[in-house]
Amino acid sequence: MKQVYTHENRFFVANAKHILESHGIRVFLKNEHASSIMGEAAALHAWVELWVDDDADYERACRIIETSLSQKDAVGWQCAHCNEENDASFELCWNCQSEHS
Ligand SMILES: [Zn+2]
Repeated sequence: MKQVYTHENRFFVANAKHILESHGIRVFLKNEHASSIMGEAAALHAWVELWVDDDADYERACRIIETSLSQKDAVGWQCAHCNEENDASFELCWNCQSEHS
């Protein structure tokens, strides 16, 4: 098992998890519930971590995340469900978690 991604904003981690799962890679989250127990200040030290279950998937997972999260020139999209603007790298709406359709 290897950590493949982490971010202070748990939505980014959830988004990365969704992307990897859509590529058939088995992943899981660590520290998912830490910040609610430890409070805001401590939450910085308890970022949600995304881990791959199988080390053999690690390199591929890194590449997928790099590619998916570096599309700076891509245009964002508007959620059909709640009309919020989303970054192009998001596959789920940050606000309501609807699928990008
Ligand atoms: Zn939405």
